[in-house]
Amino acid sequence: MRDTPTWADPASHIARHTPDMAQFYFSPAILQATARRFRDGFPGLVTYAVKANAGEEVLANLVASGMRAFDVASPREMYAVRALCPDAVLHYNNPVRSREEVAVARAVGVASCSVDCFGELAKLDPLPRETEVAVRLALPVSGAAYDFGEKFGAGPEKAAALLREVAAMGFVPAMTFHPGTQCADPAAWGAYIEAAADVSKTAGVRIRRLNVGGGFASHRDGVAPDLEAIFDHVAVVTRRAFGEDAPALVCEPGRAMVAEAFTLATRVKALRGCGAVFLNDGIYGGLFEARDIGMGDRIRVIGPDGAARGGEAVSRVVYGPTCDSLDRLPAPVALPGDMAEGDYVLFDGMGAYSRAIATRFNGYGPGEAVTVARLG
Ligand SMILES: *Cc1c(COP(=O)(O)O)cnc(C)c1O
Repeated sequence: MRDTPTWADPASHIARHTPDMAQFYFSPAILQATARRFRDGFPGLVTYAVKANAGEEVLANLVASGMRAFDVASPREMYAVRALCPDAVLHYNNPVRSREEVAVARAVGVASCSVDCFGELAKLDPLPRETEVAVRLALPVSGAAYDFGEKFGAGPEKAAALLREVAAMGFVPAMTFHPGTQCADPAAWGAYIEAAADVSKTAGVRIRRLNVGGGFASHRDGVAPDLEAIFDHVAVVTRRAFGEDAPALVCEPGRAMVAEAFTLATRVKALRGCGAVFLNDGIYGGLFEARDIGMGDRIRVIGPDGAARGGEAVSRVVYGPTCDSLDRLPAPVALPGDMAEGDYVLFDGMGAYSRAIATRFNGYGPGEAVTVARLG
C-alpha cells in the first residue's frame, strides 16, 4: 500500500485539528479493496475511468493494486496516468477528438479508441493499424441516473456500418457502450450486450473485444448495489448472445471504483433561526452532483470533539458558502436536531465526480485529501 494513513478515521482528525475548510478523507485500503473486488469478480479486463477522480493518490493506489489499463478522455488524462505508470495501457474513449488530440494519441500509443460516427473514424487514420477501434453503441435504455446515449453513440444500424468500415480500414474491430451513470440494473447491460451481438452479426464482423462501459452504481442510500449480480449477468448474457465467438470483455468503472474511498467533511458555518444551515461547501464545491442526481442519504453529523450527533432528525434547507443564491442543495436534508454551529456534516461515498469537479468559486472548495485508515 502506497500511503500509510496518519489518522485512524475522519473523527479523530477533526477532533485534533477542527479544520475550518471543507476536507476530503481518503482511505487507500477501501480503494484497493474495491479494485480487488472488480478484478476478482468481473469476467474480463478492468480499467479505470480517470475522469471520476484523477487525484494522484487515486491513480497511484490503483496502480499499486495492479491496475494497468485506464480509460482516458483527453491528453492531460493520458499524461497524468503515464506519469505514474509509464507502461499503462490507455483506452481513449472520448468519441470526439480534435486532429491535434489524435496526434497526441498516436504519440503516446493509445491501445484503443471508441468512435460513433464516420467523420470521427476518418480522423483516426493516422493511428497504427494494430490499434483497436470500438464502435460505441447507443440504445434507449432506462435504469441509470441519466442517459449517456443522449450525447454519444450510434444506433444499431449505423453501428453495423461503422463496424464494417473499422474492419475495412484494417483496425482491430471492437464495440463499446455505456449504460448511463449510477445504474444498478443488470438488465441494462444485458440489453446492450444482446444488441452488440446483433450489430456484429449484421455487419458480418467478428469483434475482438466488447467494452461494457462504466455506469456501475455507487452506494447512495439504502443498500449498496450488488456489483457481483451485474458481473454474473454480463458473463451469462455474453456467452448466450455471442456463443463460440464471444469477445473478450472490458469494463471501465469510474464512480463505483472510487466513490466509497472518500468522505467529504463540511462544517456548519451558521444555523439560522428558521432551521436553515450554511455549510462551508456546496454545489460549487464537492457537492456539485447534487444538482443533477440528488443527495442520497449517507450523511452524518459529528461535533468538533468527534462525537456523533444523534438527535431526532429535522429536515433542513442547506446552503453552501458562496454569495450566489443558487448555492443551495436541491432538496431539504434530514439532519440531527441537536446539531450546532461548528459541527461537521460528513458525506460518505463522495470519491467520484466530487473533487474532480469542485471549483474555487468565491475562495471556497475542498482542500487536499487527508489519508485515513478507515472512513466510518
Ligand atoms: C464517464 C465514463 C465512464 C465511467 O462512468 P461511471 O458512471 O463513472 O462508471 C466510463 N466510460 C466512459 C466512456 C465514460 O465517459
